[in-house]
Amino acid sequence: MLYLSTRGHPDRKRFCDILLEGLSPDGGLYLPERYPQVDAVLLAKWRPLAYADLAFEVLSLYIDDIPADDLRAICRKTYSKEVFGAREIVPLKVLDSRLRGNDGSVMYLEALSNGPTLAFKDMAMQLLGNLFEYELARRGEQLNILGATSGDTGSAAEYAMRGKTGVRVFMLSPSGRMSPFQQAQMFSLQDENIHNIAVDGVFDDCQDIVKAVSGDLAFKRRYKIGTVNSINWARLMAQVVYYFAGYFQATDSNTDRASFAVPSGNFGNICAGHVARMMGLPIDQLVVATNENDVLDEFFRTGVYRVRASADTHETSSPSMDISKASNFERFVFDLLGRDGERTRALFGDALARDGRFDLSGDPAFAQAALRYGFVSGKSTHADRLATIRDTFERLGAMIDPHTADAVKVAREHLVAGVPMIVLETALPIKFAQTIVEALGREPDRPARFEGIEQLPRRVTLMIPDASAVQAYIAQNCD
Ligand SMILES: *Cc1c(COP(=O)(O)O)cnc(C)c1O
Repeated sequence: MLYLSTRGHPDRKRFCDILLEGLSPDGGLYLPERYPQVDAVLLAKWRPLAYADLAFEVLSLYIDDIPADDLRAICRKTYSKEVFGAREIVPLKVLDSRLRGNDGSVMYLEALSNGPTLAFKDMAMQLLGNLFEYELARRGEQLNILGATSGDTGSAAEYAMRGKTGVRVFMLSPSGRMSPFQQAQMFSLQDENIHNIAVDGVFDDCQDIVKAVSGDLAFKRRYKIGTVNSINWARLMAQVVYYFAGYFQATDSNTDRASFAVPSGNFGNICAGHVARMMGLPIDQLVVATNENDVLDEFFRTGVYRVRASADTHETSSPSMDISKASNFERFVFDLLGRDGERTRALFGDALARDGRFDLSGDPAFAQAALRYGFVSGKSTHADRLATIRDTFERLGAMIDPHTADAVKVAREHLVAGVPMIVLETALPIKFAQTIVEALGREPDRPARFEGIEQLPRRVTLMIPDASAVQAYIAQNCD
């Protein structure tokens, strides 16, 4: 299996190279040259598998430069009951079986948030941590991961990399702006290789510093600076697995179809659904749910993709979806345009940089987004979020987090008779307690292992928003 760039660069790469590289040198994102196809025979073989073995089967189709025994061991170590709290890893539960006028179709919740940081990002990041450790050891190399976070990504990365040989993490976050629970989660880590840097500024300041440090090529090379952001193909690939696992739990036969509703920001999670569908998994609709930051809903409704200035990005009560542009979206557009790298580069490299938008409304390809690729979309606001959390709790007896609530709200607008609708649960309510209290007038439940984390000693360095100060800190902490 070889990988290409969405912007038409002629080079082809192996998996382990793009694992450590992230972005292609031409600014494009990596995709496999073709999507491996899964037929009825293979689906039947995969249906009874345990999650770790299913992960191995899916990953084997995309990775041919890690020996099979090693890859299987990595999958088993990653997707264990000890790490994810349940034997099924991503258990499915019925959320609503009384959908009116809907012919027996059922809405399910697929639990992706029982990993170490209680958000779905653990599903991919835990695998990435083990793949990094494996590949760096094989090459005798080191990596210093530099990132900026407003919450879920940073903690998932730290919990995936803690104690790993060959990897250090330097994670910037805006001082005092994450939820108290998220701060406690990150700052209570005492591992030598994890460095929390609280920047006296906002999230954009943190991101600007990461860009400045990564743009200093001499520094980047000398200190082996890398990232773990959501454009990394390995993260997307790991997420493909739980679409298969959710489908198998919701259906009895491999001729059934199922739909997925996904709370979306950077389009990483739902892009994995697109990949699963391209492989031949019988997915009916892929329902994109956004919050007030509706860049993606606007595209799927109108054909216009218009990125927002950071000043026009709303701070919402589903903050992990507060994006100004959707960094993984380019992958889908590349497929939509018949894998035309030149056109993809013209849209994402040129038009977006020049005009901040492009318009496919007049292009015949746009209609295919729904017809051929199954995409539909919708948007949810703060009021919708509160109403959905309340309704789901009072009528259906399930407490859901604000992001998942956005997806439940939009999923209800796209139900199809007889087709199960699987909503991906992307975080547990405890991570966003303030909104739960606003909706329900009570605190969310807290898993026992997080009792009292706010009182634990903290390991964090406060810094002014200045790239050279961060560079000095990194230099000082690398031997
Ligand atoms: C990251 C995140 C999202 C958005 O996922 P994308 O892959 O960026 O679309 C949604 N919900 C939660 C809780 C998240 O942490």
